[in-house]
Amino acid sequence: MAMKRILFIPLALLLLWSCRSEISEVAPVPEATPTPASIDVFAKTLPDPSAEDTGTRTAPDPDRPMVALTFDDGPTKYTPRVLDLLAEHDARGTFFVIGSKLNDDTRPILQRMADMGCDIGMHDLTHTDMTQFSVAVNAKRIQRMRDMISEQVNGGYDTHLLRPPFGKLNKTVRRACQTGRVASIRWSVDTRDWSSKDPENILKIVQKETQDGSILLFHDRLPTTVTALKAVIPWLREQGYDLVTVTELLESSGQSIRYGEDYRKKPER
Ligand SMILES: [Zn+2]
Repeated sequence: MAMKRILFIPLALLLLWSCRSEISEVAPVPEATPTPASIDVFAKTLPDPSAEDTGTRTAPDPDRPMVALTFDDGPTKYTPRVLDLLAEHDARGTFFVIGSKLNDDTRPILQRMADMGCDIGMHDLTHTDMTQFSVAVNAKRIQRMRDMISEQVNGGYDTHLLRPPFGKLNKTVRRACQTGRVASIRWSVDTRDWSSKDPENILKIVQKETQDGSILLFHDRLPTTVTALKAVIPWLREQGYDLVTVTELLESSGQSIRYGEDYRKKPER
């Protein structure tokens, strides 16, 4: 498991944490209204969903350019289509799931994520702004999310990643992350897929803003995001990027993931 590769360095963490200023930013995420898209460049056919996932997984070359695609607010009925696209292009992603969306029907989806070598992270129980809660309450929510995700995967799953809803983070949430053994993962490329719902616009943002080590934000609850990914993923591959998980991206820096830290991209080596 990935957790075994992570070293906990309490003193360093405490020092780092005490030096950080409080960060808070808002990225409102309204509910999606499905919008049909009809752009030729996105009109690729999906792979056969019955095709087997590759299963095998090799560690990325830390010297190659890489980015991490991240998907919030799922799982939804669109998530399997995202997984199809990732599998088709030898890519992996990181899925930040909402606790209230997990049930018996989502087990095969999370199982497939795990089987494909994707990362599964938490996005709170109810997609609530966690900065309003105490450290103790957030620690309980983090533990509950960890248990809920683990219960969805055969043999269990020990997640170590949190995407705070709305990207809102403060010292209280970070302390809960520290005690709850998770890192906060935000992003360096906001595709704004939730506001534009425009595949062409999403592709343009990716083409303009992506750099080696970027963490890209998407939402796997939007059909327009799936449409965009049909162009985004091949374009990223053509540019030579390996599409890796957040864990792989962070570990490629040669550093251990630090609980309570807030990451927006691959750390400097
Ligand atoms: Zn969200």
